[in-house]
Amino acid sequence: MRKGITKSIPHSMAQRRPTTHGKHRQAVLERDDFICLICDLLTDPDVGTTADQYPTLDHIIRVVDGGGDDLDNLRTAHKWCNSALNVSLFGEGWVRARAQDRFRQS
Ligand SMILES: [Zn+2]
Repeated sequence: MRKGITKSIPHSMAQRRPTTHGKHRQAVLERDDFICLICDLLTDPDVGTTADQYPTLDHIIRVVDGGGDDLDNLRTAHKWCNSALNVSLFGEGWVRARAQDRFRQS
């Protein structure tokens, strides 16, 4: 007869909720005046979370490179700029130029 399954999974390991992110979000956006620090244009928190111009938090030093969720390592970025920077091989200058073309006419 086997023992019951022990409930010894550490909660801190089992659940990693993005609470720090949520807590810092407003502070970072206000510190940066809702300006995307990748392309220097204004973000718009009223457009809806799926829109390109929605403000997100970008890790200056990426998490995979050891960056943390400290305020110092977070900056405001358009949703579009943030994801473009994540996938771009050409770096921030390229994203910046593309973003300015994209958002300037709106
Ligand atoms: Zn931007």
